[in-house]
Amino acid sequence: MSYSIPKGVFDLFPTTGKVEDEWKLTHHWQHLYEEMRSLSKKYGFEEIVTPIFEKTELFARSIGQETDVVSKEMYTFQDKGKRSLTLRPEGTASVIRTLVERKLYNEMYCHKLFYLGPMFRYERPQAGRYRQFYQFGAEVIGLDSPEQDVELIDLLFTLFQNLGLHNLTVYINSIGNAQCRKNYREALVQFLTPQKNKLSEESQRRLEINPLRILDSKNKEDQKIIANAPTILDFLEEDSKLHFEAVQSLLRIFKIPFKVNTQLVRGLDYYNRTVFEIACGDLGAQDTVAAGGRYDSLVKTLGGPDLPAVGFALGIERLLQIMLAQKCSFKPRPVPLILLIPLGELAKEVCFKLLKQLRVHDISAEMDFSSKKLKHIMKYADKKGFPYISIIGEEELQNEQIKLKHMTTGKEQVILLDQLVLTLINQIQNGI
Ligand code: ATP
Ligand code: MG
Repeated sequence: MSYSIPKGVFDLFPTTGKVEDEWKLTHHWQHLYEEMRSLSKKYGFEEIVTPIFEKTELFARSIGQETDVVSKEMYTFQDKGKRSLTLRPEGTASVIRTLVERKLYNEMYCHKLFYLGPMFRYERPQAGRYRQFYQFGAEVIGLDSPEQDVELIDLLFTLFQNLGLHNLTVYINSIGNAQCRKNYREALVQFLTPQKNKLSEESQRRLEINPLRILDSKNKEDQKIIANAPTILDFLEEDSKLHFEAVQSLLRIFKIPFKVNTQLVRGLDYYNRTVFEIACGDLGAQDTVAAGGRYDSLVKTLGGPDLPAVGFALGIERLLQIMLAQKCSFKPRPVPLILLIPLGELAKEVCFKLLKQLRVHDISAEMDFSSKKLKHIMKYADKKGFPYISIIGEEELQNEQIKLKHMTTGKEQVILLDQLVLTLINQIQNGI
């Protein structure tokens, strides 16, 4: 019996033999997590961690019954206590649930939170689309100013810049308030109904239950029809209009290039006013790497006070795939500085003490415990990429000396045993 990984999920590992698996390298993920954590901190965000599963009704209520996520994509199961639970398909609902449940809004008028972690959706697996995927998300609860929307877009844009990405487009739109959307929905249905037969099957179904979603249909025929549809911007009420204008002028001040895309509506029901997506031309069909928007009614819907909120979520797999396609630079794989190789029993004992001493002095080190032939140990050292090795034989020990070899230059030096820590500290200070 052999076991294999379930469909649509993936492992992260420290080495890979295949170029196409390079985005699964653990240290690439760590690199991104570090960038995301430090930039979030710079913008005043604090990390929140919520459970991987929640009561099913939380997602049904917040995301919306008619959305693809809730109607088709959720991993829902019954636990042994007959409760209906769901592996989280996104992060926002849980963040707001925590805020409301713990009444965090009583402490401060504004909360700026970010999260990192896996999400689960039962989708057709393909490049850039998985059943367990990871998101970096940020939410601001309590502020309705356009500056707040732009700060979030700027955080994303800055993150991408710091990572060395190019060829990105920021798309923005406003979907107004509930009344605007109701009026627009009527106009859209009126426009599409006479052409219903020409629409794709999926869009025909959506025409009944969620017509705004037809706007982001990828079907070519649908797109031709939609091109002439009325635009939501003509239906915005005064406040939403002003808000959207302010967002655009603030983006200009921050020199963030953007395009208004009136077909951008987003897949989850809780959005209002500003919605945005960042897409990359180098990603093929799944080209949206981050998306978000305002959701001013969600806190109230989930039983809290009437507090505005705005947020985004970014797909980490897609981000990594673009970075690799664009040959962005990554931090190197972290490798211990030195491998100690004892030859013989006495050397083993000395090495073991030395190993501890190195680590106490903050020098990353490993020791060979295998006692395999030197040839095999050297192969391990080479594969793992240790900058230094030290072969410690009984003969050298009698003179209290050891050999230190620099692996890339091949240069060898003989040093006193008790000088190893100091020598390595010096080497680190001089850039190895
Ligand atoms: P898409 O239109 O690509 O399905 P979405 O609108 O469902 O995206 P959101 O719910 O807004 O996506 O999630 C934000 C980001 O999370 C997406 O832009 C994408 O980068 C990523 N994402 C969403 N679903 C998946 C998935 N199944 N696999 C990998 N990444 C995903
Ligand atoms: Mg989706």
